[in-house]
Amino acid sequence: MQAPSVGGVMLPRGNGETVRLSRGASLTDFAEKINANPASLVAVMMNLGEMVTATQSVSDETLQLLAGEMNYEVQIVSPEEEDRELLETFDIEFGEDEGGEEYLMPRPPVVTVMGHVDHGKTRLLDAIRKTNVVAGEAGGITQHIGAYQVGTTVNGEDRKITFIDTPGHEAFTAMRARGAKSTDIAILVVAANDGVMPQTIEALNHAKAAGVPIVVAVNKIDVEGADPVKVRGQLTEFGLVAEEYGGDTMFVDISAKQGLHIDSLLEAVVLTADASLDLRANPEQDAQGIAIESHLDRGRGAVATVLVQRGTLRVGDTMVVGDAYGRVRAMLDDKGNNVEEAGPSTPVLVLGLTNVPGAGDNFLVVDEDRTARQIAEKRAARERNANFAKRVRRVSLEDLDSVLKAGLVQELNLIIKGDASGAVEALESSLLQLDVGEEVDIRVLHRGVGAVTESDIALAMGSDAIVIGYNVRAAGRAAQMADREGVDVRYYSVIYQAIEEIEAALKGLLKPEYEEVELGTAEVREIFRSSKLGNIAGVLIRSGEVKRNTKARLLRDGKVIAENLTISGLRRFKDDVTEIREGFEGGINLGSFNDIKIDDVIATYEMREKPRA
Ligand code: GDP
Repeated sequence: MQAPSVGGVMLPRGNGETVRLSRGASLTDFAEKINANPASLVAVMMNLGEMVTATQSVSDETLQLLAGEMNYEVQIVSPEEEDRELLETFDIEFGEDEGGEEYLMPRPPVVTVMGHVDHGKTRLLDAIRKTNVVAGEAGGITQHIGAYQVGTTVNGEDRKITFIDTPGHEAFTAMRARGAKSTDIAILVVAANDGVMPQTIEALNHAKAAGVPIVVAVNKIDVEGADPVKVRGQLTEFGLVAEEYGGDTMFVDISAKQGLHIDSLLEAVVLTADASLDLRANPEQDAQGIAIESHLDRGRGAVATVLVQRGTLRVGDTMVVGDAYGRVRAMLDDKGNNVEEAGPSTPVLVLGLTNVPGAGDNFLVVDEDRTARQIAEKRAARERNANFAKRVRRVSLEDLDSVLKAGLVQELNLIIKGDASGAVEALESSLLQLDVGEEVDIRVLHRGVGAVTESDIALAMGSDAIVIGYNVRAAGRAAQMADREGVDVRYYSVIYQAIEEIEAALKGLLKPEYEEVELGTAEVREIFRSSKLGNIAGVLIRSGEVKRNTKARLLRDGKVIAENLTISGLRRFKDDVTEIREGFEGGINLGSFNDIKIDDVIATYEMREKPRA
């Protein structure tokens, strides 16, 4: 049978079999799985109108598209799935409580305090901690371990609440972006003298996107000019309607400074949890949960605060946290007391880990030290690989059309930041009015005035959103973060241009632009003739590096003699290699092209997608 070919390259052809690939895989990874030549996959992509190099990490959609073209099914395995599978090989399940209903016991809610800067988040966390230190408790020094637990009485019943002790939504979203759910309820702090501010809305949107119920703490009611009623009115516009106005959000007027109505706030948290959440966990199984904070302590080594989500963690247990592991040497609670065990929703500081895990890493207790070590090592190896394949593209405007066609998303999530609220609103309402057919919805997850922040990027990561910056840029490390995480951030200074591009993308018209990037140059020193391969150039690499399978052109006396050549063979001494660096010698074969002379220069390049202005 004659295999189909594109431009002379044999097309690999499957029988509809399924190929499993990690998120962020390259064409080379794909080729390996189906025993094909990576160059042939590059050719297929080119035929589909996409320039992709063999080793570059590509989007899920590109892999799907490619697979479809070659009659394979591709199954993209997310990092979370990969981890689940890794744990399965050890017969461990993460994230589910073991046993049936009868094993589930009520657990305290876990709360994060969010809101605009200076509205009193830190002060509130302090006030809660102080008013609720259990009376008569042997006085360890209260220490900051990243979370604490307090007691309160609701309807005559003693109840507990766990607070994540990092105010603001950065930690919250960072964890969520990594797939970890740490928070059950959000307290949104709004200063009554200041009202709803940009970060109030940002926080609110983060909580909503995560599906976390909100309790509003209207703070600073002791200050002159405080207007708690106005705050209620303002928040109505954002879908938070106070109970007293017929809504289902509890608002509590407080003063963090004077310690006013803190108990009512705690009660509201408990009541909201009871009304809208079913917070139960199995306390009997091996402990599981997430890391909240960690650092390297000079005296004690790696210390990490973990939040137990199910099961009971005990001193002596063997645990894995992210890619750290170890036997729990000691545990301290939020008051600095040594504890022997910690049940669901309890935060504890753990000593005895090999290294420092990351915030949001999951932890689990396993039976054997060996298992813990193996899981940790496998995770560390995977992390290294993932870093190699760094630029994982999430949803971007260019591939939106294929994403939509593949049915991978039905809505385009946007985050809009601009220099003035009027402009942001104008942009938003124009975008929402775009007529883009029935299949897709445009959803604005968050809008605000100011630079594109790390928190915006984190929200985009967690929700596969595209970020639009109108007359603003990314602040601080946000640009790097977007780049690293493959979040598409678009800058505009003309509203119409933004609207046109989004519309074009939704209609599948926006094609990526490419630019040529020079990779390396090689000077021809010698010519070898091979009966099998034709002419081989003996070269010295003058700049950059020369890689196999990249595009090349041949220059003679500064003039281009031939274009569109391919480095089809690359050798150092007797060995086939994939690349040769500046200053080294080697042999280059340009396929069927043989017109090579001494002193010619072979310049290699690749086509890279050009960021749009
Ligand atoms: P954060 O940025 O939200 O963490 O705000 P802080 O907790 O640091 O509070 C900002 C400022 O507001 C500090 O000077 C606090 O002392 C003050 N503050 C916080 N809560 C209250 C309050 O209820 N009443 C008054 N008068 N001041 C408060």
